[in-house]
Amino acid sequence: MATRVISPKLLQNLRCFTRSLNSSPSSITAVSPLNFAEKPPIDSTTTTSPDSIVDLDDVSKLFASIPTGKLLRSAINLHMAAIDPMVDVGMWVMRSKLMETVVLRDVVLGSIKRTFFEHFCAGEDVEEAGRAVKRIWGGAGLRGMLVYGVENANDNESCDRNLEVFLRTVESAKSLPPSSVSFIVVKITAICPIVLLERVSDLLRWEYKDPSFVLPWKLNTFPIFSDSSPFYHTLKKPDPLAPQEEHDLQLGHQRLQKICQKCLEANVPLLVDAEDTFVQPAIDYLAYSSAIMYNKDNNPIIFGTIQAYLKDAKQRLFLATEAAEKMGVSMGFKLVRGAYMSSEVRLASSLGFEPPIHKSIQETHACYNDCASFMLEKIAGGSGAVVLATHNVESGKLAAAKAHDLGIRTDNGRLQFAQLYGMSEALSFGLRNAGFIVSKYLQFGPIERLIPFLLRRAEENRGFLSSSTVDRQLMSKELKRRLKAAIP
Ligand SMILES: Cc1cc2nc3c(=O)[nH]c(=O)nc-3n(C[C@H](O)[C@H](O)[C@H](O)COP(=O)(O)OP(=O)(O)OC[C@H]3O[C@@H](n4cnc5c(N)ncnc54)[C@H](O)[C@@H]3O)c2cc1C
Repeated sequence: MATRVISPKLLQNLRCFTRSLNSSPSSITAVSPLNFAEKPPIDSTTTTSPDSIVDLDDVSKLFASIPTGKLLRSAINLHMAAIDPMVDVGMWVMRSKLMETVVLRDVVLGSIKRTFFEHFCAGEDVEEAGRAVKRIWGGAGLRGMLVYGVENANDNESCDRNLEVFLRTVESAKSLPPSSVSFIVVKITAICPIVLLERVSDLLRWEYKDPSFVLPWKLNTFPIFSDSSPFYHTLKKPDPLAPQEEHDLQLGHQRLQKICQKCLEANVPLLVDAEDTFVQPAIDYLAYSSAIMYNKDNNPIIFGTIQAYLKDAKQRLFLATEAAEKMGVSMGFKLVRGAYMSSEVRLASSLGFEPPIHKSIQETHACYNDCASFMLEKIAGGSGAVVLATHNVESGKLAAAKAHDLGIRTDNGRLQFAQLYGMSEALSFGLRNAGFIVSKYLQFGPIERLIPFLLRRAEENRGFLSSSTVDRQLMSKELKRRLKAAIP
């Protein structure tokens, strides 16, 4: 069992680690290496200028692999997504009862399919997703993360059905060009009923607060909480799992292990996505306990996800990596900022608590860059692996410069970058041109099941100051350049 008793040395490290939580907000020069008592940080005084590694200025080089028609369609879609009233109406319709009327639903889904769905999703099934992998790999040298985009299953039958598709997805990766698929991605809420994940999260929280509270079913795991983790979800002592619930949890484990085993055989690693904090402890528990079983021989097959918008992100990342190192397990993490901000704020506020999210976006940026820095230092020291999943140009450039400073080769598979399909093309191409391994997160599935994903993308891309701003500007610049070049 992973222990919750923190040694004085670890506590000292944690203090150093959390001190940088309050350090200066993100800026290209502000991100300093994390400070550890056990291992002195690598000196970063000779910091490479971030702009010298990743070049986003030369738009003709950046978008060279994109035909003009495709570039124009992408620019139009991103411009439409940035128009607030249009997104408001679209989001209202997608969430409204109107979607229960067959005719209207068909009309709405039809128009979403030709616009947002085609822009942000890789198709409705694994075959279409496979074709998207070949397109981005052959055309642009980008790898594909295959994501069967279902979430929030309610019962074992739907979890079993979802499992079948995940297994077929791994199988399909074997028939695609070597190296073209970087990861298979799973959302645990697709293979374990969400009510059970909520119960398990409650029990894990209570066990953390009261170590005398024994969980007989609990497997070996890395630490899931830190003292700054949110505990307001579990205000009273939860009942132990009933025999049926224990059985269902066992089934959830088995489903994940079947996917892990298949990934191991196909030699494609598995990424476990992070979701809302009310179920995240159970998700981490399942991911970590499986990683302990499968991440053998310095080969991280299973990656967890850390959401840097959470106040406890740094501490949890630190505790989990420390524990993994001590157990001799090679652990990989995907680092994201986090996509569930509105639901987190809504839940915490409804319960009368402060949201678990940093108070400002600058703190989230600083946390992301610090966590990235921490993982890069681990990689330079020969342990761990990281996928820096971000559309933030500053974070991308900064990590590339830091990797350069630390002597991490761009083809070192333990460092990868990733962006969502249809987003942040400029950063993807800039990082690829600099030699890094870059993937696109290719979400696929029946359109009606991808509505939650599309709603999150709509929220993220809305407004003229959204994360698609850089892409919109650079794409327009390149389109104008091509137009001028075409006119004699
Ligand atoms: C490959 C890939 C995989 C992903 N997997 C996951 C996943 O498993 N789980 C998940 O949750 N998300 C996931 N995401 C989504 C990701 O979290 C969002 O794309 C991300 O939030 C956008 O952040 P950014 O790093 O691109 O930076 P930016 O666009 O610069 O930052 C925006 C983010 O900052 C944070 N933020 C905004 N306002 C505030 C505020 N006032 N205070 C504090 N923080 C704020 C929010 O997280 C917001 O999304 C994934 C993204 C990618 C690219």
